[in-house]
This record gives sequence, structure tokens and C-alpha cells, in this order.
Amino acid sequence: MEAAIVITDLLRDLERRTRPVHPESRAAMDARWAGLPDHVKTPNQLLGRSAVGCEGTHGVFPKCNLTCTPCYHSAEANQVRVDGGHTLREVERQMQYLRSVRGPRAHAQLIGGEVSLLDPDDHAAALAVMRANGREPMSMTHGDFDYAYLLALVLDAKGERRFDRVSFAAHFDSLMRGRRGAVRPRSEAELDPFRSKFARMFADLQQEHGVRSYLAHNMTVTPSNLEEVAGVTRSVLSMPYNMLSFQPAAFIGDNRRWKEDFAEVRIDDVWEQIEKGAGQELPWRGTQFGDPRCNRYTTGLSAAGTFAVAIDPAIPADTAARDRLLKHHGGMFFGGQTRFVLAARILRAAARYPGDVAVLLKMGQRIIARAGGARALWHAWRGKTLAVKTFVVHNFMDASVVAPAWALIEQGQISDDPAVREAQERLGACMYTMSHPETGQLVPACTQHSVLDSTENKQLLKLLPLRVKTN
Ligand code: SF4
Repeated sequence: MEAAIVITDLLRDLERRTRPVHPESRAAMDARWAGLPDHVKTPNQLLGRSAVGCEGTHGVFPKCNLTCTPCYHSAEANQVRVDGGHTLREVERQMQYLRSVRGPRAHAQLIGGEVSLLDPDDHAAALAVMRANGREPMSMTHGDFDYAYLLALVLDAKGERRFDRVSFAAHFDSLMRGRRGAVRPRSEAELDPFRSKFARMFADLQQEHGVRSYLAHNMTVTPSNLEEVAGVTRSVLSMPYNMLSFQPAAFIGDNRRWKEDFAEVRIDDVWEQIEKGAGQELPWRGTQFGDPRCNRYTTGLSAAGTFAVAIDPAIPADTAARDRLLKHHGGMFFGGQTRFVLAARILRAAARYPGDVAVLLKMGQRIIARAGGARALWHAWRGKTLAVKTFVVHNFMDASVVAPAWALIEQGQISDDPAVREAQERLGACMYTMSHPETGQLVPACTQHSVLDSTENKQLLKLLPLRVKTN
């Protein structure tokens, strides 16, 4: 009898673990959709359908050793000591809370000041904590560290691999000061060798130690470097970065570093420049994360310089396939599980909706045709120019609208001021969240940087002063 109960429990557990959409993901996704404002509940919306959104850490290592204009961190950040014990405690607390509220799988950024100021062992431990909580971590860096640091992060004391795969987002732009070898860059092009060197470290890592990587290239855009976005896009597209992400500057963070009229840079201006650099249109309306005033995103196949978007909003067969696949399989995830569980999930999904296999195949055929056909793909693969590329613009808001908007959201009121009301709408549809287990809140990154960082860093100043008293 007992054996029968044990077997029944095991089978029940197996059924649950191999369900195509994890039940907790389903619940988190449904709650996300229910909480979204109506204006973003459009057919192309991915939040609440296939993703809960991005997550990030805060107050875990505020210090940075470069200076940027602008800088999203509060004026106090550089007075806080980097302390591995504190980082690990905070990352664990924040990730556990995200796991409990946002479900078993999400992408999360290990972000604060500069991640490479963390001891490599602490950095590795933080990534492990994030993974243990179902988060796919991405380390955010200025990219000015050496291969020795990367090796110390990825390999343990015995030289054994700690990870099969790592993700980094490296920020390179001419607004940054203090990079070794480019202390005050005069142009974006001057940074190309540094962009290339950073990416090369990861190619070496794969070749020498079999550790794969996902790399994003980040760039802040102000009126002074807007015209150079096309050039950066062109250069970075030829490097092994998977994602090209651009952030129009906003008046948030350290106000001593607000130098220009950032408001002049609109999300459309940046996208236009990216398209100019890519040498073609980059259709983005097929999918959307959150509010289109915050985010622009497109992903597809790049073959020998030709970008073939995954979902072309102008092609009815593409949008019909998107709607069908989201309806049937939204919330299914592919990482953070054994191959056996993943295979079982895919098989169960295919068995439940057999017609979707043909839909996926036809979608694949259309992408291949856009990329120039099977022969072009074959040549691109042989020439090592075949890759999945993603383009992103993330448009942070100014603190002057975020602060009043957040205050009103907390009071359950809507502003009469159109600019503040717009900020309220965007915060309500935010796709980049930070976790506050102490208050039970998830807050948008705009709110974190505009409203909460300063107080948080003042508290951290007392907890982790730069000078440690020895007597
Ligand atoms: S962090 Fe700010 S800009 Fe980004 S999605 Fe959230 S509200 Fe929009």
C-alpha cells in the first residue's frame, strides 16, 4: 500500500514537472496580465502571455569605478563599500521574493554599480543564488576587466568549470570616463577595439574551457552621440554580441552628472539610427514588452548582415502564428531545466496541439526566405556570420515625472498633469522590476532610481562605509 502511494506521488510529481507550462508560471502570468493597464493589452503584448518581465537587483554593490554623464546611480553610491557578504545576503533575499511572486523562471540582471568590483568568488556565488531561484542571471558591467577576472569567475580553485554558460551586458559609450586606454573617448568609434576585445574574451572562454555566453552591448544615447548610433550598430553587428541595446539618457540618478538636454533624444530618433546602421528596416511591432513608450524590441536571424525578423507585423501569417502560439504555449520556458524535462515538455506540448508543429515549420520557412533562402543561410553559417540578434531601446523616464507619478500610484490617484499621467501609465505596465521583500513591493526600475536609491544608499553608507574602523 505504501509503495503504491509513493509511486502515485512520484508520477504526480513527474506529471507536474513535465507540464508544458509550469502551473506556477501560469499563475504568475495570469496575475501579470490581470494587473496590466488596458492600453497595453494589445495582441502583440508579451507580458502576461509569454513572460513576466525582466528583473534586477538593487543596493547589492552600488559602487562603480568609472564615471559617466549621465549616471543612473545616486550621488551616495560611490561611498558604499563593496562587500561580498552583503551582496549575497541581499541577492538571496531579493531573488527568493521574486521567485515567490513572479514564478519559477525569469531573466534577472545582477546590477548595481560595477559587477567586476565583486570578488570573483562572490560574483560566482551571486549567480548561483540567482539560478537556484529560477532566475537566468545577466551580469551588468562597464566591460573594463581582464580575462583573468573572467577565468576566476567561471572556474573554481581547482580549475573546474562552475558554469556552462554566462551572460554579460557590457556598457560602452563615449559618455563614460576612466576606461583604461580610453579615459576620455572623443568618439564612439574610438571604443570599437574595446568592444571587440571584450567580446573576444568570451570567444576564448568557449574555445579554451567550453563555457558558452550570451552577450549584450549597451549604450546610453544623448544629443552628443545620437548621430553615432548608426556607426556603433554597424560595428557591433559584426562582433559576436547577441543583443544591441540602447538607452536614451534620462534625468535620473546623480544630478551632478546631468550635462545636456537629454529630452531631445526620442525613442524614434534612436530606432531610426539603428536602422540606418543595420542598413534596413527593423520591424518591431510584431511583439511588445510593456508600454511602447518605454521599450522597443525586435529579434530575428542575422545571416551575413541581413536581418530576418522573427515576426513581421505586416505579414498576417506571422501575426496569426504569434497569436496561436502565445495562446497555446505562452509561459513555456526552455532554460533552467534538465534536457529530459525540457524534451518531455516539448513532446507533451506537441501532442496536445499537433497542428502547431506545422505552424512553427511554416514560420521557420518564412524567416529563412527573409534571410535570403537556405543557400544564403548555409553560406552564412560556414562564414560564421549566422546568429540570432536582438535590438532593444529602453527609454527610462525623468525623475521629475516618476517621483510624483509614483506618489500618486501609492495613493491610488490619477494625475491631471498629462506628463505625470503618462508616467503613471508607463509605470503600471513596467517590464523591468526590482524587488522589495521588506515592504512586499515590486517596483519599476525608474522608481528605484528616481525615488528609492538615494535613501537606500544613505542607509548603506552607515552599514558599509568605505573606511572600516579598526579599533
Ligand atoms: S523601468 Fe521605467 S522605462 Fe523601463 S519599463 Fe519600467 S517604467 Fe518603463
